[in-house]
Amino acid sequence: MLTCTEPGEVGARVRAWRAGGARVGFVPTMGFLHRGHASLMDLARARCDRVVVSIYVNPLQFGPTEDLDRYPRDPEGDRALCEAHAVDLVFVPATLYPPGFATRVRVDGLTAGLCGAVRPGHFEGVATVVARLFGIVPAQVAVFGEKDWQQYVVIRRMAEDLALGVEVVAGPLVRDDDGLALSSRNRYLSPAERARGLTLHRALFAMRDGHEASVPALLEAGRAVLDVDRLDYLAVVDPWTLEPLERVDRPARALVAALVGSTRLIDNVALDPR
Ligand code: AMP
Repeated sequence: MLTCTEPGEVGARVRAWRAGGARVGFVPTMGFLHRGHASLMDLARARCDRVVVSIYVNPLQFGPTEDLDRYPRDPEGDRALCEAHAVDLVFVPATLYPPGFATRVRVDGLTAGLCGAVRPGHFEGVATVVARLFGIVPAQVAVFGEKDWQQYVVIRRMAEDLALGVEVVAGPLVRDDDGLALSSRNRYLSPAERARGLTLHRALFAMRDGHEASVPALLEAGRAVLDVDRLDYLAVVDPWTLEPLERVDRPARALVAALVGSTRLIDNVALDPR
């Protein structure tokens, strides 16, 4: 497994692989890797000949009061996990924003609601770093997690709108044995907070497993299950436009974001039409 810190080095390596006929898959991450990230590496491996993982905690996507400074890091563990999942190249830049960097990528519409409404500037930070990463790593396929459903939809839109020439695919959300969506941020949770964090997926699964089609009734049922300190949103939306729905009479997505203690958790699930 190669480790690169310089953008030019990664670009040259990936272009050489492609010149040799290889299909290259790319998994961007912020590190502190877990089984959710590993599942994306495996998905990239299944679809591609070469797999690149980037590890970079992107300051642009954190708000001024968010957890950039304490975001968990584990370079050794990350390397071992990438190695165990047959990653060919790990890109670990010291920074992605050289002096003079002045560009921002904004995706309208899709970023207005849900996490975009609660975290101003977040998706602009995400779109900007991913656009730059796509420029540095000229892969044919990029893999994102359904864990961050809104992010996945935003990145797909950006890649298509800017004709970036990369196919954006998503891997399923991976959960811990107790049902909590795996997240690097789960390590912030005390045992008592973790127990309350479990109410996110319980609320979503209750909504998924009910036969109720009326969204107001579904949301009421979901809210009754939640035990959180601040509910940012519980919503049922069209999976691709992210517009709120009144009835689940076609495929839909239920999404939740909430603060438990000082930890912000998100989760989502697909809802079948009923
Ligand atoms: P992050 O390191 O949190 O920025 O996540 C990097 C990528 O891993 C994103 O595409 C996430 O959606 C994805 N990811 C994070 N957690 C999970 C999970 N539990 N299941 C599937 N994908 C995940």
